[in-house]
Amino acid sequence: MKVFATSQLPGDALARLAQHCELDTWESSGPVPADALHERLQGCDGLLCLLTNCVDQALLDACPALRAVSSMSVGVDHVDVDALTARGIPLGNTPGVLVDTTADLTLGLLLAAARRIPEADRFVRTGRWDSASPWHPDMFVGRDLSGATLGIVGLGAIGQAVARRAVGFGMRLIGWSRTSREVEGVEPVSFDTLLASADFISVNVALTADTRNLLDRAAIARMKPGAVLVNTARGGIVDEQALADALRSGSLFAAGVDVFGREPVEADNPLLDLPNVVLAPHIGSASQRTRERMAALAADNLIAALAGKQMPHCVNPEVYEAP
Ligand code: NAP
Repeated sequence: MKVFATSQLPGDALARLAQHCELDTWESSGPVPADALHERLQGCDGLLCLLTNCVDQALLDACPALRAVSSMSVGVDHVDVDALTARGIPLGNTPGVLVDTTADLTLGLLLAAARRIPEADRFVRTGRWDSASPWHPDMFVGRDLSGATLGIVGLGAIGQAVARRAVGFGMRLIGWSRTSREVEGVEPVSFDTLLASADFISVNVALTADTRNLLDRAAIARMKPGAVLVNTARGGIVDEQALADALRSGSLFAAGVDVFGREPVEADNPLLDLPNVVLAPHIGSASQRTRERMAALAADNLIAALAGKQMPHCVNPEVYEAP
């Protein structure tokens, strides 16, 4: 059986996978271009991919031998899940293991944006903290987390982990989720109430057709004046131009953004030249331990599928139901 892996992975995941198949791995450190992916996937039974690889109808049409796909991510918006399901191809993902790491980054961005830490860092580094600009009561004043209301959009695993951390900072918690999940310590509210009453908003929903542009210009305009928005979910959920306009006008105080509509960000991204935005290059799950665990789960999903077993973490388990 043949498998193509679109990247080298941390830990021993690929070495283990190679014991179960003939493994071909993209050797370059850069991402595999779409045409090379088509070419290398010819005749393969399995694909181990990253969130930077688009797995769409055209790829499936070109690779009829494919019978299992495993992505080293929890989000699967880069994959046409319906097209895979229609072909009976299981899709694996890596939930759970990245929850705490991503929630940590969310709180990191929230604190950094609220307390203007990167802006202050740039100030010190560039020698602007001098006798002409000594310590002053107005210097880099920010917002307190303690006593403020955090609105969590999406109370899935990461949203709940964000809630647990925010309690420790003395925040009041409100949350919205499409299935009206009940989460201890989080008051369930409507989406509109969350927008209007949260001092901080953390975006933690999956990107789907329903959530694309959920925080569009109209939603951002309904946010509480002076609020802080943090997005560690997916870029397509927040209208970046509308966010930039709100930050520039002062109607929002600050933002922390780990994910973008287009990644890598383009030079003309409207968020890039704003001082009150803290930016990160999609590093929510970027800790050594978590990346090794994600790679291990991604390999486990494929190893199971190649053995004719159900993937331990399958996004479309309906493919296993008898017709
Ligand atoms: P999860 O436990 O599956 O939670 C998914 C959340 O999305 C739930 O709140 C769910 O709502 C909501 N959702 C799913 N489909 C929806 C729809 N059609 N309409 C409205 N809400 C919908 O996943 P998770 O582990 O918390 O991860 C959440 C997202 O974070 C992932 O999908 C991924 O995109 C992103 N993420 C980013 C990074 C990063 O590096 N920045 C790392 C990990 C994850 P219900 O529960 O009410 O259905």
